This record gives sequence, structure tokens and C-alpha cells, in this order.
Amino acid sequence: MPHRIQDTEWDAVIVGAGHNGLTCAAYLAQAGQRVLVLESRDRIGGACTIEEPWPGVRMSPCAYLAGLLHPLVIEELGLVARGFQWTPAVAGLFIPFEDGSSVQLHEDDAICDAEIRNLSPADVDGWHAMSDVIRRVRDAIRPADESDMWIGEAPTREQIEDRLGDDEEARGLLFEWSMAEMVERYLQDERLQIGYLGQGVIGTHASPFDHGTASIRFHHGSGRLGGMPGMWGYVRGGMGMVSFFIADAARDAGAVIETGVPVAAIHPGEGVELEGGERIRSRVVISNADPRVTLRLLGNAADAAWRKQVESVPIEGCTVKLNVLLRELPNFRARPGTNETHHYGQINTPLTKDEWRASFAAAREGRVAERLWTELYFQSVHDPSVVPPGQHTMSVFCQYVPYKFADGDWDTRREEIKRIVLGSIGRFCSNIPDAVVDAQVLGPPDIEEKVGLTGGHIFQGECLPAYMWSNRLSSRTPMPGVYLCGACTHPGGSVIAMNGRNAAMAVLRDAI
Ligand SMILES: Cc1cc2nc3c(=O)[nH]c(=O)nc-3n(C[C@H](O)[C@H](O)[C@H](O)COP(=O)(O)OP(=O)(O)OC[C@H]3O[C@@H](n4cnc5c(N)ncnc54)[C@H](O)[C@@H]3O)c2cc1C
Repeated sequence: MPHRIQDTEWDAVIVGAGHNGLTCAAYLAQAGQRVLVLESRDRIGGACTIEEPWPGVRMSPCAYLAGLLHPLVIEELGLVARGFQWTPAVAGLFIPFEDGSSVQLHEDDAICDAEIRNLSPADVDGWHAMSDVIRRVRDAIRPADESDMWIGEAPTREQIEDRLGDDEEARGLLFEWSMAEMVERYLQDERLQIGYLGQGVIGTHASPFDHGTASIRFHHGSGRLGGMPGMWGYVRGGMGMVSFFIADAARDAGAVIETGVPVAAIHPGEGVELEGGERIRSRVVISNADPRVTLRLLGNAADAAWRKQVESVPIEGCTVKLNVLLRELPNFRARPGTNETHHYGQINTPLTKDEWRASFAAAREGRVAERLWTELYFQSVHDPSVVPPGQHTMSVFCQYVPYKFADGDWDTRREEIKRIVLGSIGRFCSNIPDAVVDAQVLGPPDIEEKVGLTGGHIFQGECLPAYMWSNRLSSRTPMPGVYLCGACTHPGGSVIAMNGRNAAMAVLRDAI
């Protein structure tokens, strides 16, 4: 008879096999602990996985690009030897404008300078100054060594300020400025300003005119993947491969990963209860589920003050993700062609400042504006293995949409949203929507249903300054033996894996 998971007294049970739960499992198992991971879905990876929405097409339905995955975790879990490979998106950020001009903010400084000079000669120095403040903050608080403040316990504001010294701009970037304030401070050309605004609100339920949004730009620019500061790129095979390689590391170290097993309750100090009522014994339970789900699993066992803290973190998503199958890549009027440099980086279709305001206001009222901001990525140009010959994939990350419509719901409004999103891209292209074979539309409730992320919030809760660093949930909780390891903990949302490592280190330290 096969060994039953109920028959073992585990050292640690992890609720959820998102990339952070798997990371936590790998570190604990490597430290010699008996670890069980229970995942409610029948696939692992959470928001960082791979699906086949159409025959022969492999797509990462949620997370699509790597940039913040921590080099220490890559090294310690041997991810490269396990097959992790990525291609840096050196082509950078392409932005077409309605007047027919465009800019390619290339990662190569000389090319980038030439592009900006061509669009707005007066802005070359400002661009450098803006990039430099991001570099200074990165070097101060996230150096490429063990003093990186993402590793371990979250630092206090005072500890961060100590590192920043008397750099007032650094403080503004990290804690104060709106994204609009930042671009207006450094750039003069309205097109460059609007083209960059989206980088301050990715996955964030705030307008680029809102306090603290510039910190979102910093968060996403603070990585050092492959030793390249701020670089993002495409993972060979798709983003979900990150989770799969981490799962391999966990299994190799002896962790047991069970899928299709939803946890119904967490009993602090005792273990978990499955939906059928079976009990799994473990003195430590680490939740990779988002904090609202964790609260529900704890029920009356949740500490009152902790409950209040969890409930104070906004967790309503405002993002719609379109996974699109194309017969050819978008042909941008500003730079015609269907296999151009810009298809190898990322593309933003911009909004005017008034459109930014209108689209955020509409979503807050349960409506959708006629024009939305989109960010586009094409995995298939780097990695044709993910599509049948002659086709392409396009990931569209788009804001703002409501979680709940004032009229109708996501099922009745889905086709309309698809039309609006494709129209927001099509206004800059000659072949969209014609080149679209099919598109999957995932609004916040769809993301919630698919991945279990409450509110469809892509980061398990807001990443604005009020909810980051020592204000973010700690991996330790007041409930005995209960820990968190997901994106809701320090250092925040995205595919980072440091959250999982930090939780494992806390568990191991407390066990001494
Ligand atoms: C649309 C979208 C696009 C994104 N794009 C990017 C991107 O390009 N790059 C990037 O770096 N990040 C991106 N992100 C963010 C990133 O994907 C997440 O921050 C990250 O994947 C969270 O990982 P996690 O392991 O902390 O949690 P999750 O991925 O949320 O995993 C939690 C797991 O717990 C499981 N679970 C929940 N409840 C239970 C239960 N009761 N019993 C058992 N299991 C349970 C869930 O099924 C899930 O598998 C995106 C997210 C979304 C949604």
C-alpha cells in the first residue's frame, strides 16, 4: 500500500506550490526537514506556471517575464544546472506615439541616447539623471552582495534612510514621488513623460498621479538578473519553467509535493486539515496562499491584531491579462515591419495624461475607459518552441479594469473588454486586431479563480510604500508555528523567490 501523507509527522507543511512555496520547501528540505507541499490546483507554480491555451501553444498565463528572480536563489538551488536559461530583453522599451513618432529605450546607453536625442534632444541629460537616481538607490539598498536589503528580515525606514544618506532624490523615489512627479521632474517632452508613466503602476491599484507610485518603478528596476542591473528577460520555455526548476530542487532534496489537494484549515501548532476532514500533522505550517486566504484557513485561530493588519492591505486587482495567439506580430505604423528590434523587448502603448486619469477614474466607478494602457511581450520571437511554426504569442498586461462592473459582470463584458484592449493596441498598428487568431481574457475575478489570488491582485496585496519593507507582512505570524512565504511578505510581489527563502530561514532559525 502506498505511503499516505496522513501517516507522517512532518516538520513543515507548506500550503500552496507557487514559486515561493516551492522555494521555501527546497531550502527546508535541503536543511534536512521532512517537508510536504499541498497545492489545491492540479498544476504547480501558482501565478508563475505554464498552460496550453491552444493546442501546441505554451504560455505563461500570468507572470510572463523575469527580472527580479534573486541571483542568490538561482545559485543556491542550482537552477542553471537544472535548465534555467533566459534571454535579456536588451531591446528595452519601445513606445509608439499617436503623432507617428516613437522611441526605443534600449538597454545599450549609446543607442538609447541616440533614440532620445532623435525624439527630444533636450531630454538626454534628464534621462540620465532619472536613470541615475534609480541606480543610486539600487546600489545603496540592493547591492550585489549579502547586504542586499531584500535578504532576510525587512529593514526599518531608519535603516533604509541610513543607507540613502543625504540623497533627497533617492528618498523621493523610494517613498514619496508619484510617477508623474518623477517624469515631470526629469523629462520635458510630453511624449516621453506619458510613455513612461505605466512603469509606475504595474499591478498597482493607483493612478500614476498618486503618491508613492515612482517606488513601483524602482521595485521593478532593482533586480540584477544575470548580473545585469535592472534587466528583464525571457525564460526559455516560458516563465513557469522557473517554478518547475525550483520544484525539481525541492524534490531532489526530499520534499513531497502533492497537487489537487486543497487545504481547508490551518490548526496552529498541529498541522492542517484537508477538505475531506483528514488531518496532516506538522508543528510548522507555512502558507504560500495570499494573506486573506490564510486568514480564512485560520478561522478563529487568527490573532486579532494580525487579522487587522492583513485586512488593512488593499488587495483588489485592476489588471486584465490577455494571452493572444497571432498569425503575425503587430505592425506599428511608427516603425513598420513584423520582425523588428522592438518585438524583442517590451512595448508600451501609451495614454495621454487625461486618458490616464480617465481610465483610472472609470475603473474605480466600475466602468472601463475606451483607451487603456498596455504592455506587450512576445515570448515566441525569442523561443519559437512555444508555438506552431508561423504563429506568435503576445502577452498583454493592461490597466485599468474594475474587479466588479457597475453594469454586468466579467462573463457578459469579456468580449467588450477584449475589443477595447485590442483597440488600445490597434490605434498604433495596421494589423491589430486582424492578426489575432484567438485571445484569452483574464480579468481580476478570473485571476482570482484560476490562481486563487484574492481580488485578482497580482502581488498578493499592494506594493506601494505604505505596504512595503517593515510595513509588509512578516513571514513570522503571532500564531504558533504559522508562517507566510508568499508575495505578501518582504520583499513583495513578482517572481523573486526571496520571499520563500526568507520564510525558510525564519523557520530554521526559530527551530534552533
Ligand atoms: C497576470 C499576472 C501577471 C504577472 N506578471 C509578472 C511578470 O511578468 N513577472 C513577474 O516577476 N511577476 C509577475 N506577476 C506577479 C507574480 O506572478 C506573483 O507575484 C508571484 O508569482 C507570486 O508567487 P507566490 O509563490 O508568492 O504566490 P502564488 O503564485 O499566488 O501561489 C500561491 C499558491 O497557493 C495555492 N493555494 C492557495 N490556497 C490554497 C489552499 N487552500 N490549499 C492549497 N493550495 C492553495 C494557489 O493555488 C497557488 O498555487 C504577475 C502576476 C499576475 C497575476
